[in-house]
Amino acid sequence: MRMLDALVLGKGPAALAAASALAARGLQVGVAGPAGPVHWPARYAAWVDELPADLRTLVHARWPRAVVVGRKRHVMDREYALLDNAALADLLVERCDAHGVEWMAGTAADAAHDAHGTRVRFREGGGAAARVVIDATGWDAALVRRDRRPDAAFQTAVGWTVEADGVPLRPDEAVLMDWGREWRDADPAPTFLYAFGLPGGRWFLEETALVRRPAVSDDTLERRLRRRLDEMGLRIHRVVHHERVWIPMGGALPAPQRVIGFGAAGGMIHPATGYSVARALGAAPVLAESVSGGLGAGRAPEQVAADAWAVLWPADARLRWGLYRYGMEMLAGMEAAETRAFFDAFFTLPPAEWSGYLSDRLSSARMMAMMARLYAAAPPEVRNRLHAGLMGGPGRAMAGALLGRLGIRRQG
Ligand SMILES: Cc1cc2nc3c(=O)[nH]c(=O)nc-3n(C[C@H](O)[C@H](O)[C@H](O)COP(=O)(O)OP(=O)(O)OC[C@H]3O[C@@H](n4cnc5c(N)ncnc54)[C@H](O)[C@@H]3O)c2cc1C
Repeated sequence: MRMLDALVLGKGPAALAAASALAARGLQVGVAGPAGPVHWPARYAAWVDELPADLRTLVHARWPRAVVVGRKRHVMDREYALLDNAALADLLVERCDAHGVEWMAGTAADAAHDAHGTRVRFREGGGAAARVVIDATGWDAALVRRDRRPDAAFQTAVGWTVEADGVPLRPDEAVLMDWGREWRDADPAPTFLYAFGLPGGRWFLEETALVRRPAVSDDTLERRLRRRLDEMGLRIHRVVHHERVWIPMGGALPAPQRVIGFGAAGGMIHPATGYSVARALGAAPVLAESVSGGLGAGRAPEQVAADAWAVLWPADARLRWGLYRYGMEMLAGMEAAETRAFFDAFFTLPPAEWSGYLSDRLSSARMMAMMARLYAAAPPEVRNRLHAGLMGGPGRAMAGALLGRLGIRRQG
């Protein structure tokens, strides 16, 4: 079996970004995934300033402002965009082809490692071998092992793309979260409206549960969406597209291991927002630089994988993950009024802080200072919840991460 330099598993945005970046550095790269053309059915959005500069034009729609509604209305002058999946996928496939990437129809079943590299066996029969393997097969990763504790929480949503009249929203604003509507049905979980106008006069409107454990069901979300659109006075002529969102969030961050995890498979889903695509696009060159540098220097595959994990997850990023998990656990338990008050306080912070938090651009030290400011600015009911969380499991996990960072082991 021929030994490639790198084998990338998966055909999602993370896999193609990684494969094209590795191949552009002169490595022999294979991509293995289900047979058939590359197709990304989910709708991906991102802050424009998070996207790599050369990909910022590959968007289907963009809005100069984003709005969050709690008890107050917050308008953020930060450009938000819906990616043009087909254009982005085509460009990444073209870049792969231009650098001779080998496409393989095969889904990874398992892997065997030795000093020279890794052999991956495909479920369909056959397999491939490479000095390093990058698993970008999504959250339920094919090869990357992760501790199944703690349980993930879930972002779920039901969205419609509609042709309609009477939509009481502005086409130049993306409604990131509107928590204004209180729900008094069987499920106590608060949900919000995520909505924006699309080219051609269409609208996208989605009822979203930011993060809950257990997940808010599709039935609840769909019922609320119908009711909400009714109350908004929309006259819907046609529902053009239905979307169902199911994103596992939190869970454990994978430990460094021989197979390199990337994208959702590598723990890159932001625990507080559920986003990962812009992050994977931005991190692909970092991964590629590390792997090509290591292989070029003749380092052992095991060391190349360890170096890649370290560059993708430096100690400070692992610590931030602990802080995000605490934030996620707090949000997962909040009621509607607390959630509104929380986001009012959050979006009143200086833009560099709220946007830095959402885009993982703050150091852990700045993030902790920001969290302290948020605590001070929050009303008593939110402060009580944050305080109770600090004393409970999420707080203990965060404290463990902090102590670990300081090199202190807890006893017992
Ligand atoms: C409906 C929806 C909307 C979302 N919206 C956003 C958003 O707006 N912004 C954002 O940043 N994130 C969003 N997310 C979250 C997240 O970013 C996506 O889940 C994203 O698709 C993750 O990209 P990925 O390439 O890491 O994994 P995936 O897109 O899950 O790709 C995994 C790939 O691996 C392949 N595969 C699976 N098993 C194997 C195997 N054994 N061997 C080989 N290949 C395999 C799959 O076929 C697929 O090609 C959304 C998620 C969903 C579900």
